Amino acid sequence: MASPTSKPTVAILGAGPAGLTLASLLRVQSIPYTIFDLSSAISTAGGTLDLHPAAGQAALRAANLWTPFTKHARPESDVMKIVSPAGVVLWDENKGAADEQPAAETEDDLFGGRPEIDRSALLSILLEGAGGADAVTWNKKLLEVIPAANGTHTLRFADGTVSESFDLVVGADGAWSKVRNILSATKPHYSGISSLELWSLDVANRNPWLAAYAGAGNCFTFDADCAIQAQRNGDGSVRTYASLRVPETFFADYGVDFTAPDAAKHVPAYVEKYFGNVGDDLKKMLLSSTDKVIPRTLYHLPPGFSWEGKPGVTLLGDAAHVMTPFAGVGVNAAMLDALELSKAIVAAAQEPEKGGLVEAIQGYEKELFPRGEKYARKTLKNLDGHFRKGGSEDIAAMMRMVHAPH
Ligand SMILES: Cc1cc2nc3c(=O)[nH]c(=O)nc-3n(C[C@H](O)[C@H](O)[C@H](O)COP(=O)(O)OP(=O)(O)OC[C@H]3O[C@@H](n4cnc5c(N)ncnc54)[C@H](O)[C@@H]3O)c2cc1C
Repeated sequence: MASPTSKPTVAILGAGPAGLTLASLLRVQSIPYTIFDLSSAISTAGGTLDLHPAAGQAALRAANLWTPFTKHARPESDVMKIVSPAGVVLWDENKGAADEQPAAETEDDLFGGRPEIDRSALLSILLEGAGGADAVTWNKKLLEVIPAANGTHTLRFADGTVSESFDLVVGADGAWSKVRNILSATKPHYSGISSLELWSLDVANRNPWLAAYAGAGNCFTFDADCAIQAQRNGDGSVRTYASLRVPETFFADYGVDFTAPDAAKHVPAYVEKYFGNVGDDLKKMLLSSTDKVIPRTLYHLPPGFSWEGKPGVTLLGDAAHVMTPFAGVGVNAAMLDALELSKAIVAAAQEPEKGGLVEAIQGYEKELFPRGEKYARKTLKNLDGHFRKGGSEDIAAMMRMVHAPH
């Protein structure tokens, strides 16, 4: 193990939001780390994420990444439109022309809510914060973490190599974490929801109707066992999830390979079969979003998932508490974990007399478990509350209540 006064050798598995946020925060504090990721570069896939002031935004500020964030964030996308399954607009925060808007006077006016940022932009900012692409050892797929006799840990990778002598191994390797295997036998289980992710690119030029209909932010519809959720992205695209409460084998049983290059041609039959009764505009939105088609079967860990602490290994982000996206909190939870874990590591390095790394990680995990559970329960509550008859009406009523003048 690290001597009481030395900085620990830290391995971070995963260059996603959790791992890169942690690396950025450690870099600010001059704590060295090694990041490994199975990919050859950061992911450019994915849509928009809203960052909350006390979670994602707080982590970015602590990592000195606030200024780049404000350059890419889209506060104007922090708007909600709720549509009934029949197509009636029940709530709409999209306003008229920009010149009708009151001008934002302070940074808090602009970013005090939950501004959106594209996942690719967020990852680029975090990668720079972590030291750039050269700071990550790419194409390293972890297979297992092996305890060594001297209390450190060894990493074994799919390419046959090993990396040794880490005082702390941090699993930021997502839902199917390999680091987690040394801490727990629990695996994520099917959430009951499968989604067909449908993309329309460059909507302002190629589909102005969709641009106007989906609006600047989120456009959601919920009904019994189904949902349609569209989101505007900063790259000019609209991503729409057509989700169903169905068995885990739904996509396999459906008999169409939605990952094949010609998947778009199967979308009309799918929409007709499962969303045939929705309002005309909602149907048009689904049918005109076939530039990219991605089937997703959504998994989660049980709320309250925890593990018996083991010196020298811990988890954060989806590896610790993967949940479905129905509360939109996964990335915030991951970045807040990174902030708290960085504080624990820094405290252990700066004040070893207080118990060192082992106690610092125990303290981090003690807070992590209830925090992860809170996020997971909120997500489950949303999933149950939204995917039912009257789901849209209930959210619209809640929005009216929240925004009612007091
Ligand atoms: C369809 C969908 C929509 C979502 N929408 C939202 C949303 O709107 N708002 C929100 O807050 N959250 C959303 N989420 C959740 C959010 O994406 C995650 O919570 C967040 O990405 C977690 O970050 P992470 O770094 O923990 O994990 P990940 O983003 O999964 O990153 C894990 C990293 O580890 C690497 N890795 C994996 N296995 C290994 C291995 N064996 N060896 C080495 N490297 C490995 C991966 O390549 C990846 O870079 C959504 C998730 C999904 C699936």
